[in-house]
Amino acid sequence: MSSDEYIAGVVLQTRDYREFDRIIYFYSQEYGKVEVLVRGARKITSKLAPLIAEPFALVKLKVVSGRRHYHLIGGEVQERFENIYTNYVKMNGIASVFNCINAIVKKHKPDAKIFSLLIAFLQKANTIPQEKITILMSAFLIKFLAFLGYRPEVRYCILCQRKEFEKDIFFDFEKGGVVCKSHDSDGENKKELSMSALSLLQELLYKRFDYVLEKKKMKKDIQLVSKIINQFYQWQLD
Ligand SMILES: [Zn+2]
Repeated sequence: MSSDEYIAGVVLQTRDYREFDRIIYFYSQEYGKVEVLVRGARKITSKLAPLIAEPFALVKLKVVSGRRHYHLIGGEVQERFENIYTNYVKMNGIASVFNCINAIVKKHKPDAKIFSLLIAFLQKANTIPQEKITILMSAFLIKFLAFLGYRPEVRYCILCQRKEFEKDIFFDFEKGGVVCKSHDSDGENKKELSMSALSLLQELLYKRFDYVLEKKKMKKDIQLVSKIINQFYQWQLD
């Protein structure tokens, strides 16, 4: 009954399975996230192992559907992002972002916007200098969360809808966006945000990767905003 088919996408994460096998979490264009069993992937003689060992590449997998997973039977690499896996900083950063995605994205929910974002992210990560990787990862993660339905409100205060902030504000993880400091009741689950960090946050969410990467940003803002986005992600996960 099961016939073979091709699915195109990227490996998000892998895990060992049984004695010699491996399961890959694969984000595909066709079905969104799926699990693919690779029989014998941990044997040196495996012909399939090199295909899924390609870190951060766009691959086309030939699979058959089994009872619980797809089974890998062949495939080919379509696009290699070799400037990622030859750079330790980029590679580690992106591996952790992919772990984040894998933890939050549900299986079998294909989404063309998410797929395009994922590929655009890898293409950019491949070409930019290493010092830009943090800002690119932050831009990717916040856009990704927004596409999944967890868009934080960063244009106006969630509590009073005010857009013109007079002074510094908070990012409130519980409420899911920015709030004026004047509403402050307790300091829990909030982080202070400067006006420059707020405008960076808005850029990361609403502007294209190229725009975000072009201009010079303050290191302090990049670090703060990256921390906020990671914490916001964690909040959604819990
Ligand atoms: Zn307010």
